[in-house]
Amino acid sequence: MSLKEKVAYIKGFIKGGGVSEKNFEEVIELIVDALEEIAHEIDELEKTQIDLEEYVESIDEDLASLEKEVFGEGEEAEVEEEFEEVECPSCGEMFFVPAQDYYSGEEIRCPVCGKVVISEEGEEEGGEQTSRDKGRN
Ligand SMILES: [Zn+2]
Repeated sequence: MSLKEKVAYIKGFIKGGGVSEKNFEEVIELIVDALEEIAHEIDELEKTQIDLEEYVESIDEDLASLEKEVFGEGEEAEVEEEFEEVECPSCGEMFFVPAQDYYSGEEIRCPVCGKVVISEEGEEEGGEQTSRDKGRN
């Protein structure tokens, strides 16, 4: 008998002849039996729920490690690179140089006229002042 059938049976039992001293114990027994089954069902549901939660958690963890593998370690890698603005002493073009290159003493050439703006020795070509000496604007 399913739980629904049991409850319907109890209902019918009570409605049918009414509860008397004679059948009182029997009715109570049926009700307790139905309650026991409800308690058991809830228990099973709880276990299933816990299993499902654990399963979802493990999927979540797998997904996180998969994301790491596919997309790398995360947002930290996307920190914006800093740039220094440089003015070409030959043609006056303003352009941006990665700060890393700017301070490393590497030779920097103007992207427009191709002249060396900052030489590898840190000395300007032709003795003209560069924005490295002038500082930032
Ligand atoms: Zn130039």
